[in-house]
Amino acid sequence: MTKQSKGAMLCPNCGKLISRSETECPHCGLKNPTSKWKNGPLTAFIKNPDLFINLIIGINIGIYVFSLLLYPRRMGMPMNPLSFLSPSNDSLMLLGATGTFPIDRMGRWWSLLSANYLHGSILHIFFNLLAFKQIAPLVLREFGLNRMITIYTLGGINGFVISYVAGVAFTIGASAAVCSLIGATLYFARSRGGIYGHALFRQVGGWVIALFIFGLLVPGINNWGHGGGLIAGAFLGMMLSYEEKTPERLIHKIIGNLCTAMTILVLLWAVFSTLIVRFLA
Ligand SMILES: [Zn+2]
Repeated sequence: MTKQSKGAMLCPNCGKLISRSETECPHCGLKNPTSKWKNGPLTAFIKNPDLFINLIIGINIGIYVFSLLLYPRRMGMPMNPLSFLSPSNDSLMLLGATGTFPIDRMGRWWSLLSANYLHGSILHIFFNLLAFKQIAPLVLREFGLNRMITIYTLGGINGFVISYVAGVAFTIGASAAVCSLIGATLYFARSRGGIYGHALFRQVGGWVIALFIFGLLVPGINNWGHGGGLIAGAFLGMMLSYEEKTPERLIHKIIGNLCTAMTILVLLWAVFSTLIVRFLA
């Protein structure tokens, strides 16, 4: 290399200050630490991680509105508040609801991811996004952006894998992914301990008990998805570790970016293939 931009930057692996002209990090030995892809081509775009939480909320609302407008005349009857503003089952199926039906009959394995972004009614999306808005900033602060994305994405997928294995035919919702964030928080609180850890464990543990009771009382709740998300989140929290113990390393960025890329591709495919079936086929 002949000319390099001057100045300093943080090593994408160990986070220590290095010179931009470095071909190898003097602290951790990472080769080519200035390479773009090592700094996270997708998540490095997100300069303000707090806005990322609103982005996820925006994507969920956008897809919900799209699912309502797709077959407007087949929406749920407004008489029942639980199904008020419900997208039709055709909309949800096309956009990637998951379960044994879409997977076994239609080969839609990608729905294990897309179903995390679909909702069945205004109450369903409201409560899921409310819970997400509560727990996400905490996970973002303790685990950082890339690990939060990984916990959210893989935990949601695992929730739906478990509910698929349990034989649930048709299911949707962000709650498996939200439960994964809760599971990671429980692990963090236990592992960290101290006054903060104990208080956090009690508070979030209380949510889990409420969720469990709610799931037993209200019909149609995918308890397998919730449980699968919760366990996956605790496991992922343990495997990935958190900022206080292990500051974000290159491997976290790679996995976080893979999860982001996978989500973008699956959601684009869900919307694109739905538009083709609805308006062209
Ligand atoms: Zn380094």
